[in-house]
Amino acid sequence: MSTGAESGDVAVVLGAGYAGLRVANEIRRKSRGTIPVVLVDRSPVHVLRTELFEVGAIAKADRTRRRFTLPIEKLVAREGIEFRQGTVEGIDFDGRTVDLGSERIRYRSLAICLGNVAAFYGVEGAEAHTFQVYRYSGAVRLAGALRELEAHSIGLPAGRRPRVLVVGGGSTGTEVAAEIATADWREIADPHARPPEVVLVCGALPFLAGLPESLVRHARRQLYDAGVVLHEGLNVRKIEPGRAYLEDGVELPFDLAVWAAGIQAPPVIRNLPGPHGRGGRLKVTEHLELVDRPGVFGVGDVVEFEDPKTHMVVPSTAQAALAEAPVAAANLVAQWSGRPMRPFQYRERGVVVALGVGRAAGRFSRVTIWGSPARLLKTLVEREYSTATKRGRAPPGL
Ligand SMILES: Cc1cc2nc3c(=O)[nH]c(=O)nc-3n(C[C@H](O)[C@H](O)[C@H](O)COP(=O)(O)OP(=O)(O)OC[C@H]3O[C@@H](n4cnc5c(N)ncnc54)[C@H](O)[C@@H]3O)c2cc1C
Repeated sequence: MSTGAESGDVAVVLGAGYAGLRVANEIRRKSRGTIPVVLVDRSPVHVLRTELFEVGAIAKADRTRRRFTLPIEKLVAREGIEFRQGTVEGIDFDGRTVDLGSERIRYRSLAICLGNVAAFYGVEGAEAHTFQVYRYSGAVRLAGALRELEAHSIGLPAGRRPRVLVVGGGSTGTEVAAEIATADWREIADPHARPPEVVLVCGALPFLAGLPESLVRHARRQLYDAGVVLHEGLNVRKIEPGRAYLEDGVELPFDLAVWAAGIQAPPVIRNLPGPHGRGGRLKVTEHLELVDRPGVFGVGDVVEFEDPKTHMVVPSTAQAALAEAPVAAANLVAQWSGRPMRPFQYRERGVVVALGVGRAAGRFSRVTIWGSPARLLKTLVEREYSTATKRGRAPPGL
């Protein structure tokens, strides 16, 4: 099969996460297979990132990789998409090429969907002394470290339990803290394991900032029931092995710390010319095209899109990435055939935050749900995403 990659008459999609995988598939579908697509990712697998907070399940399962990842090559073969495994090291907008280190790919149109990386905001020791769940490898490392900590907890002085500190009071930090507090470490690590003491340091931003008030209320109650202690109001200033320091000098000792305090665009994106938003995210127009870069689209966590009507910045979620992807793909296809593009408008379908094994709180339209029904709904939505993706159907939102 000739893909057109050699001649550069091809649409190149960078990143095979929620955004990129969907953009690539939609370009093929909307162009009825006439536009050749090359999809690039550094990893051979599509990571079900919205589930990476489940560190208890990751620590337990032998077949973890199969539950939390899907092989990209297999997912895209049936659509006639060419997959290239490689790390994007640079993009030359003027020359219309992407640098993968060992090779350069020429493109006619480009979709940038490279997600994000952890932001440490210059906090001393944060990167060196904490674990993260933003990537699959990080979640596996955290799960292994927790299993070790719990397996040796019997050796701690009498009455002392393993101390886990989670930094970041947004949904990722909340989900991880609750999961660690409620996972069955006696089953996972050792029958005599002592359950961990979990402290969630929310920082200067309000706990679960931006989420509906009723959801936040349920989240507080369920975290309290799970034994998670909330520390609100102050940012972490410095982290040393075994100790975090808040802005007022208060010291919080820990055996293991998790950093979930925020995200930013990957370095390769932050270094690109052109307008950038918070954390170096790429600014895009209402057509999800980069400002002043015709034919180059940005989708998912890597972009900052402010709705011109509401001035609301679309959140960095898989739900938003999956909503943007078909519009960006349709606009890319429209450009190839000289048709007009259509604007993107975001409508949130709802939000659910997991609050420990078997529990969650969510808000849809004006309805708040919590406890096991909310968690069941979250699980069903996630299963539906992975089943649809495996079968090559357009996945529902998350
Ligand atoms: C623990 C956790 C729970 C979450 N829960 C939810 C939730 O319940 N609902 C929700 O909507 N959102 C949730 N999110 C957010 C959601 O995961 C992200 O918004 C979503 O992954 C964004 O999709 P994306 O395609 O932009 O980025 P990603 O899914 O991160 O995909 C980016 C892709 O780019 C690849 N890549 C990156 N850099 C390079 C490079 N230089 N070269 C080549 N490839 C590269 C990566 O390998 C990856 O495949 C959660 C996030 C986390 C961490």
